[in-house]
Amino acid sequence: MTDITGGCLCGAIRYRLGAPPAVTAICHCTHCARQGGSLFSMICGVPADQFEITKGEMTTYVDTADSGNKVERKFCNKCGSPIISDVKAMPGMVFVKAGTLDDWRQFKPTVEIYRSRTAEWFPAFEGVPTFQEGS
Ligand SMILES: [Zn+2]
Ligand SMILES: [Zn+2]
Repeated sequence: MTDITGGCLCGAIRYRLGAPPAVTAICHCTHCARQGGSLFSMICGVPADQFEITKGEMTTYVDTADSGNKVERKFCNKCGSPIISDVKAMPGMVFVKAGTLDDWRQFKPTVEIYRSRTAEWFPAFEGVPTFQEGS
């Protein structure tokens, strides 16, 4: 059994993953940038039933993506850390914000999406399939 854990900045929310990510995406979409306050997001896709909150309760912001699909963005309402995105167009999966993992260094990007939204100077990820839009 894997023991992949993570949590928010203040520690109010803790979680564990029952399986390693099926996909690890670098997402340059403008919604991830604004919500995370960073230029891009690294997000780990895991089956929803493999994501378990072990402490605290997340707050949900219901976002509408560029595609028109609903995305429930769940975060800590004490410190503001974004924890997961529940993309309604991809039922059964949740996307964990990799920066909240206790050890995100063990996972490498497997795909890069919304490349068209970032700057020309942003470096390429060598050997990683890149999509100008969602996929
Ligand atoms: Zn917190
Ligand atoms: Zn995104």
